[in-house]
Amino acid sequence: MDLGLKGKVALVAAASRGLGRAVAEELAAEGASLVLCARGAESLAETCEQIERTSGVQVLGVAGDVSSSEDVSRIVGAALERFGRVDILVTNAGGPPAGTFESLSAEDWERATRLTLTSVLNLTRAVLPGMRERRWGRILNVTSIAVKQPVENLMLSNSLRAAVTGFARTLANEVAADGVTVNNLLPGYTRTERVDELARAAASREGVSEAEARARWEAEIPMRRLGEPREFAALAAFLASERAGYITGTNVTVDGGWVRSLL
Ligand code: NAD
Repeated sequence: MDLGLKGKVALVAAASRGLGRAVAEELAAEGASLVLCARGAESLAETCEQIERTSGVQVLGVAGDVSSSEDVSRIVGAALERFGRVDILVTNAGGPPAGTFESLSAEDWERATRLTLTSVLNLTRAVLPGMRERRWGRILNVTSIAVKQPVENLMLSNSLRAAVTGFARTLANEVAADGVTVNNLLPGYTRTERVDELARAAASREGVSEAEARARWEAEIPMRRLGEPREFAALAAFLASERAGYITGTNVTVDGGWVRSLL
C-alpha cells in the first residue's frame, strides 16, 4: 500500500527514544521529512543522524521542552523556517509521574498538566492554521490505554489524557471539513524506558522485583508479551497517511488485547 507520505513534513514531539522515535523512523521509511524534538540535545542529535543515515530523508532536530510554550514556539518556528510547513503533527511527551491522589501535590498536577495537556494545545495551535489553509493535515496524539481503562496508581496520566481525548474529539469535528484529521493513538505496555520506570515504581510500591512487576503485566495481556515500539509506529504511519483521510475523531489501541471493553 502506498501511504502517500513522500514529501510530507512531519513534526514528531519527544522523539529521541521510545514511541516517538519509532514513529519518526516509520514516517522516515515512508519518505516524510522530519522535525524532531526532545529535551536533551545530544541524544536528539544522535537519533536525527541515525534516521537520516538509514532513510535518506531530511531530519531537523530542535532541542526543547514541550511543556514550555516558548520552546514549542521555537520548535515550530524552526520547522517552518526549514520546511515552510508542517503536514503531520504527532504530539507526545514523557509520561507524568506515577502516584495516587494523596501522594501528589498541587505542583505535581500543574507540572503534569503543562506536560500532558498544555503541550498538545500549544503544538496544535502552532500548526493548525497552516494545515487548514492548505486543506490537508494530520494530528495524532499519543495518549494511553488509560483513557479506556484507568491504570492503578497512574492518577495524573488517567486524568489528563482524558482531557486530551475530549479536546481531540471536539477539535476533530471543528476541522474535519478543512481536510484535517485528528486521532489518538493508545499504546498499551510497550517495551520502552517509560515501562522500565513504571516497573521500578510498581516494584518499590508492591515489594516485588522489577521482573515480577513486568510478569504481572504480561499475565494481564492476552498476547502475554509487551508490545514493540515499531508495532505502535505502524499504526501512526497509517493514520498519518493519505489513505486514512476519512478516519477522524478515533482512539485506536495497540495493546495486545489489554483493554477488555467492546468499543
Ligand atoms: P520514553 O520515556 O521511553 O520516551 C520519552 C521521550 O520523550 C524521550 O525521547 C524524552 O527525551 C522525551 N521527552 C520527555 N519529556 C519531554 C518534554 N517535556 N519535552 C520534550 N521531550 C520530552 O517514553 P515512551 O514509552 O516512548 O512514552 C511516550 C508517551 O507514551 C508517554 O507519555 C507515555 O506515558 C505514553 N505511554 C507509554 C506506554 C508504554 O508502555 N511505553 C504506555 C502508555 C502510554
